[in-house]
Amino acid sequence: MIFAKKSLGQNFLRSEKALNQIIEAGDIKKTDLILEIGPGEGALTKKIFENKATLVVVEKDDRLIPILEELSKETKFNIIHKDIIDMYEDTTPVLTQLNTEVGGSYSTYKVIANIPYYITGQIIRKIFEQPTLPEKVVLLVQKEVADRITTNKDDKESLLSLSVKLYGKPRRVAVVPRGAFVPAPNVDSAIICIDDIERKIPKESDFKFFELLKASFAHKRKRLMKNLNDNYKDIKWEELFLKLDIDKNIRAEDIHLDTYIKIFNNI
Ligand code: SAM
Repeated sequence: MIFAKKSLGQNFLRSEKALNQIIEAGDIKKTDLILEIGPGEGALTKKIFENKATLVVVEKDDRLIPILEELSKETKFNIIHKDIIDMYEDTTPVLTQLNTEVGGSYSTYKVIANIPYYITGQIIRKIFEQPTLPEKVVLLVQKEVADRITTNKDDKESLLSLSVKLYGKPRRVAVVPRGAFVPAPNVDSAIICIDDIERKIPKESDFKFFELLKASFAHKRKRLMKNLNDNYKDIKWEELFLKLDIDKNIRAEDIHLDTYIKIFNNI
């Protein structure tokens, strides 16, 4: 085993149970194209290729590349030695890069990963900013982040939950205790699965929609209407809330995606 680098979020998963839960949630078919972010020493990679899908792994740490190359001799998978953020920020769409790597013409892909926690939010945002959305995303993230995305604890929305729900349906698959990793992180983790991925508004509207969300959550303690009024001064919010049957005293965290889309479509 290599010496784990904290700066790269290296917590290697050792639990067979958790690995199997990730694989099961991935519902991997032979015909799938899978992107695994941060394969590390290949614990999850081995399980993914047991299912015989086409697999591309993207790893940043130089020290792990020879280990992965050795592993890929047994069963063929493709290794990209790169920072995943650079890959998502490239002008060539990620799906095109993956197709070039595997010499394929897949129309979509699945993301399955135990991702480094220091870039969780960034990775999720980048995945959905792409012109082609993945078919499914299965991620191991901090439990607290999983709870926030799935809103399963208190049904309170956040910028993070809404920016996932704009594209898909997130659910928490399982909790993974910190002891399942080497080295053990300071917090527990959870597997989330994002399914039913589709655009609910046209891609060109994403930027404006996120402006609306940011304005709505600008001051958490203020009412939604006040936050919106501060940012969109020429809209008659009282009238609009009445028309859309939204409580004028409600806070941003207490309305769901469908209501935000309704507001967006009316401004
Ligand atoms: N998948 C392995 C497992 O489950 O045991 C390792 C998971 S570990 C939490 C995160 C992995 O992501 C490490 O292998 C780390 O080197 C890699 N990584 C960190 N930052 C990365 C980045 N920006 N791009 C690609 N890989 C990265």
